[in-house]
Amino acid sequence: MSDYLDGNAAAGPLSEFFAIDVTTARGRCLHCGRTGALATAQLYPHSHGLLLRCPGCTEILLRLVDTGDTVCLDLHGLSFVELQRD
Ligand SMILES: [Zn+2]
Repeated sequence: MSDYLDGNAAAGPLSEFFAIDVTTARGRCLHCGRTGALATAQLYPHSHGLLLRCPGCTEILLRLVDTGDTVCLDLHGLSFVELQRD
């Protein structure tokens, strides 16, 4: 018997995270350590999605790419994202 479950078991806990307005979440910049609401980041829209840049160091926090068939969310520039429950 293994000591882990497959990724399907994460659906419930992750549905709470991805069903909210993520701009209210707080995140920490992986590059400079600044922590703040994602709503305070700098948005750079482009033809296939958007970039959010850190207002402290201007590095990319988040990248969303929409190809029409798929939507890809890259959170590489955030060391964490934190949600406050009501
Ligand atoms: Zn930063």
